[in-house]
Amino acid sequence: MNEDIEVVVIGAGVAGLGAAAALRAAGRSHVILEASGRAGGRAWTAYPAALGGVWFDMGAIWFHDAENNPLTPIARNAGDTLLRSDEIRGERTYIDGRPINASEARAYDAAWPRYAAAAEALLKDGGDVPLSAVAQALADDRWAPTVEAWEGPVICAADADTFSTRDWRRNALGGLNLVPEGGVGAFVTRRLTAGLDIRFDTPATRIEWGERVKVETPAGTVTAKACIVTVSTGVLASGALAFDPALPAETRDAVHALPMGLAIKVALRANGPDRLDLPGHCSVDRQVARSGESLMPFQCWPFGRDYVQGWIGGGLAWTLAKAGEAAVIDHALGELRALFGGRVDRLFAGGGTLVTHWDSDPWVRGAYCYALPGHAAARDILARPIADGRLNFAGEGCNVPYAGTVAGAWLSGQAAARAALAAL
Ligand SMILES: Cc1cc2nc3c(=O)[nH]c(=O)nc-3n(C[C@H](O)[C@H](O)[C@H](O)COP(=O)(O)OP(=O)(O)OC[C@H]3O[C@@H](n4cnc5c(N)ncnc54)[C@H](O)[C@@H]3O)c2cc1C
Repeated sequence: MNEDIEVVVIGAGVAGLGAAAALRAAGRSHVILEASGRAGGRAWTAYPAALGGVWFDMGAIWFHDAENNPLTPIARNAGDTLLRSDEIRGERTYIDGRPINASEARAYDAAWPRYAAAAEALLKDGGDVPLSAVAQALADDRWAPTVEAWEGPVICAADADTFSTRDWRRNALGGLNLVPEGGVGAFVTRRLTAGLDIRFDTPATRIEWGERVKVETPAGTVTAKACIVTVSTGVLASGALAFDPALPAETRDAVHALPMGLAIKVALRANGPDRLDLPGHCSVDRQVARSGESLMPFQCWPFGRDYVQGWIGGGLAWTLAKAGEAAVIDHALGELRALFGGRVDRLFAGGGTLVTHWDSDPWVRGAYCYALPGHAAARDILARPIADGRLNFAGEGCNVPYAGTVAGAWLSGQAAARAALAAL
């Protein structure tokens, strides 16, 4: 594979596919080098036997802010069904093992805008603080630690004391969440890869970026006029991809200011008819007592299925991932037991289990990145074209306001393609 083309794209995740779509529309020759054996990256639908072979998204599952999400019209125009997950969702919140009452539910609802307003107030002088400062500023608010646990570790995969409040505010997602029927990963391979030249099992190992760009792989070298690198900041920080000359200091600093958070998905399949007295597609959480305490929310019986799936995020996710699958499942069962008692052990004994492992995927190394306090601008810096657009970075880490999502990955890939086209 010793080739000479106009643009070489590293990575066939959503950002790489977005870049390739824009290059193809512009009629420019390009190739995508993908280290793994499949396209989609963190958009990956599996069909685990442990869950009866149903489709299951190991990574992205929702089109967030669906009315404005650039992937929504692609799905709609292709005739795909988008499931209205928010509308069919039931919700149960618990305090000390009992469901909350109506006045507590009202207080919980009111806590979210209050928390956002407190964050804005802390940022109004133009500075930045760790997200944990918001709950500290709301010391008398009994629900603030719960909102923090959701917004930090659960949604952004980052612990509140190491996560930039400004980064959170710049990327806080509103709007509707839709689920493409059959899974986001399946949608990506079905609708976004057709006709593209993707070389699988072809990791880029070294990128020389001089007057021309030379990308080395175990299968040979690709020479191009411009390059778009879409690997995660975890892969960039690992040094698995060498750059010659070394990247500019501001780019290297940006990579280190955007470490990977971790989110683990755990699914437990019921072995009998008990559904814990919950409706289908029911979101379950509990009140968190203090800032920094972890929360493991569950979606129980999603789309009427016979399993529950839970999320563990942030530092606890890294710790449990190191401890192994049994520790992750024990943690999930412990959380469920605290809400539903010993029937949980009978219900899930011998049922199938699934645990995701984004921590140990060498081509990802985490779930998605977050900015350290004071470093929200790192995303803009990483997205800046280098060497007049001959070298460009893209991916979920490079987009605002859709950081950490497939929408952000797609848009950043397209922006990088525009920069590469300008370089041609
Ligand atoms: C558990 C979890 C849940 C999520 N939930 C959602 C959600 O509900 N909605 C949402 O919008 N987003 C969600 N996300 C985030 C979303 O999946 C990502 O933001 C998005 O898929 C990232 O795309 P990307 O192209 O930037 O990176 P990637 O998907 O990581 O693509 C990069 C590609 O580069 C390849 N690669 C790495 N190194 C090399 C190399 N040296 N040479 C060649 N190729 C290489 C990788 O194999 C990969 O295919 C979730 C992610 C996770 C992990």
